[in-house]
Amino acid sequence: MGRYTGPVCRLCRREGMKLYLKGERCLGPKCPIVKRQPNKNYPPGQHGQKRTRRPSEYALQLREKQRLKRLYGILERQFRRHFEEAERRPGLTGENLLQILERRLDNVVYRLGFADSRRQARQLVTHGHFLVNGRKTDIPSYLVRPGDIIAVRPQSREREYFKVVQETAQSKPVPAWLTRDLETMSGRVVSLPAADQIDIPAINTQLVVEYYSRR
Ligand code: SF4
Repeated sequence: MGRYTGPVCRLCRREGMKLYLKGERCLGPKCPIVKRQPNKNYPPGQHGQKRTRRPSEYALQLREKQRLKRLYGILERQFRRHFEEAERRPGLTGENLLQILERRLDNVVYRLGFADSRRQARQLVTHGHFLVNGRKTDIPSYLVRPGDIIAVRPQSREREYFKVVQETAQSKPVPAWLTRDLETMSGRVVSLPAADQIDIPAINTQLVVEYYSRR
């Protein structure tokens, strides 16, 4: 599957918010969203500085959809598939969508502190470094369920990268719907993530629902 391989800070500048796509750098003073003077924080590209009209309803819906999609590092086709699944489920579509995105294996690896960003987590998953319930799983869109055990593959634990993670991940908090055991380099899904347990920048999911409902 294709994926965006261009400069990621550009995506944050486009959305006018931190999407935390670069790990540690996002927390430091080098983040362009922080570093740029407020009057220089315009969208990227040749037309980024053009004076803009008041955004239309559609533009607001589109931006919100793009923000959520880019935050989780997903391309349109898969994001839409997640949305359609959210629609089929009982309850609020926006909340269902967030829950589905949060349950993706790449996101869970990130939340467990085994990667600095979802992007890095995705790469670690596709490179086959993780087991789910003892079976090698290299599909980032795999949706975890309560009771699932996600573990670093024994061979991979010998790698320098994971040794460093084992020593440093303690300082990274884990959401209440997951537990982590750094001794065994594994995590367990305790429950499905509730809306208030999903720590993301403010995104109005209702606008995302409206975006897909127009067509
Ligand atoms: Fe770049 Fe991270 Fe800042 Fe986004 S939050 S602009 S990815 S450093």
